[in-house]
Amino acid sequence: HDAAATALAAIEAVLAVIEINADELGRIDAVAGDGDHGVGMQRGARAAAVAARDADARGAGVETLLVSAADAWADRAGGTSGALWGVMLRALAAELGDTDAPTAMAVSAGVGAARTGIQSFGKAEVGDKTMVDAIVPFAESLATEVAAGVPLTAAWSTAADAATDAARATADLLPRMGRARPHAEKSLGTPDAGAHSFALIVQAVAAVFA
Ligand code: ADP
Ligand code: MG
Ligand code: MG
Repeated sequence: HDAAATALAAIEAVLAVIEINADELGRIDAVAGDGDHGVGMQRGARAAAVAARDADARGAGVETLLVSAADAWADRAGGTSGALWGVMLRALAAELGDTDAPTAMAVSAGVGAARTGIQSFGKAEVGDKTMVDAIVPFAESLATEVAAGVPLTAAWSTAADAATDAARATADLLPRMGRARPHAEKSLGTPDAGAHSFALIVQAVAAVFA
């Protein structure tokens, strides 16, 4: 049940980084969107943490724990990003399975499945100024590192840096999807809220793996 304990620690780290950054995420979303990204992520991460703690107390495996967290997140967050985080966590969970020690390859495959899931659910491409702009370089960097034999801790950290750079670079883009699209010009100079929160989350998880 080692992997489940790590997943719980990761979700606790996600909750902590979202609590700290919720106001800023709301401000970023308010520039061209509706300003609710901080509160939405907060509701989702809080519900996911409660569900993950319950699953861990029941001795659940990592897949079961992440599915509980995914369902709670999607149910409670509301908004586009809540549904998308549910999709991502469920896709990751399915690749891991209820094993005690998932390989780096399985984690990388899970992140790849999360990326595929989010794109088939939300239909956004790279360059549309959404969280897809952060998850695609994250998934590709992680896959490259892991395939080269880099241990998961270092591979995840490199991939998280790629996500951070990519999220920052969304400031130069015009949104082509989601609620920010009608106010596209206003968003120039501000990064996408969902890409920024994605980068914060994978950096927080990197610290758990380290
Ligand atoms: P809402 O837009 O419903 O208020 P949030 O504010 O929580 O939801 O999330 C907004 C974020 O969701 C955006 O910043 C963007 O990253 C992401 N997003 C919106 N539409 C899509 C989409 N079709 N595919 C991927 N991500 C999307
Ligand atoms: Mg919003
Ligand atoms: Mg909204």
